[in-house]
Amino acid sequence: MKVGLVTYTPEKVEGFDLHVFYSKWADGSVSPAAREMQNDITCFCDAKAIREDPSIVAVSNNGPALRKNRKINIPFDFVCPTNPEYRAKVLDYVEGLGREKIQGVTLNLYHFPEEEFCVCPRCVELWRQSGLNWTEWRAQAITDFLKEAKRLVKGAFAVEMFPDPVLAKERFGIDFERIAELVDYFHVPLSSRDYLTNYWVDLLARDFLKVLKKPMVVELSAEMLTDEKTDALLKTMAYLSRHNLMGVLLLVHDSENARQVCRYAVNNTDFREWLKKYEFTEMTRIADEWVKLY
Ligand SMILES: [Zn+2]
Repeated sequence: MKVGLVTYTPEKVEGFDLHVFYSKWADGSVSPAAREMQNDITCFCDAKAIREDPSIVAVSNNGPALRKNRKINIPFDFVCPTNPEYRAKVLDYVEGLGREKIQGVTLNLYHFPEEEFCVCPRCVELWRQSGLNWTEWRAQAITDFLKEAKRLVKGAFAVEMFPDPVLAKERFGIDFERIAELVDYFHVPLSSRDYLTNYWVDLLARDFLKVLKKPMVVELSAEMLTDEKTDALLKTMAYLSRHNLMGVLLLVHDSENARQVCRYAVNNTDFREWLKKYEFTEMTRIADEWVKLY
């Protein structure tokens, strides 16, 4: 199992094999390509673009896909995924990254905000013309976008998803079967403020491993750490290491945050004895690597 980082700063850290950099954020800010790293692009969530042109927002009978719309419950503001100008803008950015020496591209938030979106006149017209039912049309619209993006991606191609293994197609237009044909691996974010309660991580990892027909990495949040939270995070990683995962990624603020996790594992002999006692061989190997470095 690989271990990696998801970061807001384009720095590599010793002891980690995969480096994912957030190059385009949901607030609309964009960064230059992070060289030798996997560049993670937020596609249709762009608060800045929606502020500049409110007409591009995805709409439903319960109103627009905005966080401030309390009739719905969404974490970001969503642009309509069939907006041709906005799609072109995202694809231009993907193409631009391909001109740099990057490791690859991960797309996130490339889908509809929820099941009742989008009923803008363009989407309704495209749906009618397709002859497909609502679920199939929405899934096709998203898969077609990913196909276009894949042609422009240099290196490894991955996608994130809202972590719903059962209703992803109905809710978001995410068709795991079709998408598996396009991607090199899936990136499953299981974000939390802490992992003191962690049964759901194991549960969702098992479900996604059953559903996804390509390799898979799981992302855990490693920000805002206390000793208690770090211990719970590392034990959750250890349980994940018993599954057939390509890797576990830790979301950190910066490189110091990542080193802090390694140092905790290195200095905490109780934790490393716990790994050995319960025969977490893969996690023991990872911790032993960190001991050599930290
Ligand atoms: Zn629309």
